Amino acid sequence: MSINKVEGLQKIYTTGSMTTYRVQKAAKIADLLKDLHLESKYFVILVEGKKASPNSFIDKNAEITILPKIAGGGRGRRNVKTKEKRQKPPRNKNKGPMWSVENGKVVRNRKSCPKCGPGVFMADHYDRQSCGKCGYTQFKRINRKIPSKK
Ligand SMILES: [Zn+2]
Repeated sequence: MSINKVEGLQKIYTTGSMTTYRVQKAAKIADLLKDLHLESKYFVILVEGKKASPNSFIDKNAEITILPKIAGGGRGRRNVKTKEKRQKPPRNKNKGPMWSVENGKVVRNRKSCPKCGPGVFMADHYDRQSCGKCGYTQFKRINRKIPSKK
């Protein structure tokens, strides 16, 4: 490619893969790229260090920098849409079994379902307890404290 011969553009320097030109006459960026046989969709164009669209016109003596877009957009600034995640209270990690036997006695760690009767325990959620068998749900009062372990 005989880039230096392109009319209206003077190559100033190259840094890595980006090349900076001085524009010798006012022109549309897209036309300059065309002169360089570059497809604008594959390149990012900076005018005086600021990102410019290929459709903008640049003044005489302006400095343009052309750098290739990296495939996949791995580098450079991306518009990352950050999803706002709903914050859930931390889960009670010490779930353990539904019941255990201590000193020959059954110790129930969960409430039984009032509908299904003893033997059917209710799942303990941070804001409610629910029965997996019948779907009965009991909401806890919302004065949330980190459950203190005995
Ligand atoms: Zn139930």
